Amino acid sequence: MSNISTTRRRLLAGIPALTAGALIPAAQAASAPVKWDKSYDVVIIGSGFAGMAAAAEASAAGASVVVLEKMRVAGGNSAISGGGFACWTDELKLREKYKLGDDSAELHFKDTMKGGDYYNIPELVRVLAEQAPDAMNWMLSKGGLKLNKGLGRVGGHSAYRDHMATGPRYLAAIEKIARENGFRDLMKNTEAVRLYKDDKGTVTGVEVKTRSGLQNIEARRGVVVAAGGFARDVKFRMRYVPTLTEAYNSTNHAGATGDTLEMVLEAGADALHLAFIQLFPTAEPTRGMIDRPALFPIQFPGFGAVYVAKNGRRFVSELERRDVVSQAEIATGGKETWCVFNEAVYSQLTDRKEIEQFVKSGRVKTGATLSELAAAMGVPADALEKTISEHNAILKAGKDEAFGKPITAAMKPMQKGPYFAVAQWPSVHHCQGGVRINTDAQVIDVRGKPIAHLYAAGEFVGGVHGNNRLGGNAIADCIVFGRIAGRNAARKA
Ligand code: ADP
Repeated sequence: MSNISTTRRRLLAGIPALTAGALIPAAQAASAPVKWDKSYDVVIIGSGFAGMAAAAEASAAGASVVVLEKMRVAGGNSAISGGGFACWTDELKLREKYKLGDDSAELHFKDTMKGGDYYNIPELVRVLAEQAPDAMNWMLSKGGLKLNKGLGRVGGHSAYRDHMATGPRYLAAIEKIARENGFRDLMKNTEAVRLYKDDKGTVTGVEVKTRSGLQNIEARRGVVVAAGGFARDVKFRMRYVPTLTEAYNSTNHAGATGDTLEMVLEAGADALHLAFIQLFPTAEPTRGMIDRPALFPIQFPGFGAVYVAKNGRRFVSELERRDVVSQAEIATGGKETWCVFNEAVYSQLTDRKEIEQFVKSGRVKTGATLSELAAAMGVPADALEKTISEHNAILKAGKDEAFGKPITAAMKPMQKGPYFAVAQWPSVHHCQGGVRINTDAQVIDVRGKPIAHLYAAGEFVGGVHGNNRLGGNAIADCIVFGRIAGRNAARKA
């Protein structure tokens, strides 16, 4: 949980705080300095999926590229991301291989629009749905990406299209492509604190704060802002959602703060949807982070897992959107709800060895019978037994009268122990709002015009996901728009 101030977080992260008045640059865009300390074609702010995808493509286009990262370690939220990537097809033909039905770019588009309650900017969603398969194939064929077994169907999607790996594995694949394209310069402990513009309003470079002081870095062709969201910044998020106090945990890394957004707004960018901040429904209840077991309740419902409240009863469709599930959990009134599964469910995505590892650590509870499991969870045994037997009947009937869950053939009834359960609770996760971009990833100003030589991608951007992002759409968004931003920023004037 982050209730520490930005300054303290900076100190904890090894980043010197901006304390001395003389060192604090006025944050608004300023005229280009007389002297540049360094010069590149493309300057990228942020080393997550979006920034690294931009670096790979800008390098492929022959540009000299630097990636700036304010933290001691690279990768931001991407490095701790759950690793779901939504795309309707791929070169491995996984959907066909696992016989999981039909899908199309059109259906992915429609699901994403509906999942965001139609607040999304449709042109951006089209680009996401249409280009996500190419982004996946790029990482598979050029980056050597290895995916997990299976293909998931997650909340709000109406097809099995969730490709699964881990954040670090996607990052490694993108970095491999970037390096092969000639990318070399990643500057850690280096925070962009100001954008420079020339007298025509074209962005010309950035001022950065390093451990040895301020420097000016020229961007001859473009700046890409891929700085991520601000979900960990309690004060900043409360500007837009006053009820998202420190009482809520956050899944984010310590660097997910609002200062870079302020910097880009001060340079004239328009922003939208800043109050749309997502709760991740199945985080680890105590600290609020997404550990590996926190992904079981995301991935297993497509194969028959059941959510129950403290009373041992279902309370929501397990395939509902994240905002609906989170609110339903809060409405149960007790911190922690549970995701229940057995081998018939988990074996479609993982093996006994992995589950046992978390049983050993105590994160996953188990019982030879449902009544034993109920005792381990602290829920009434008769209620849990009734819930699972009713759910088995729902799968058989193909209809969920109580909660309207879409039933598929891949969902297996739970008839045999041992049974397992993992505790889950909402935690502040993803900022759907951010700066406005067009389909070329150009940042749009408050009057609706592109700011010359300024691009943005990833969680820093608003409008792709509407008021609720579907699982698997964030990594796809970052990589699709990161690539577009990188290619366009590398273009010669
Ligand atoms: P995305 O998933 O959109 O790519 P991430 O959170 O994975 O976003 O990555 C964003 C990265 O940008 C983080 O590592 C964060 O520390 C970094 N960052 C944010 N603001 C700045 C800044 N002003 N200067 C340098 N790095 C920044």
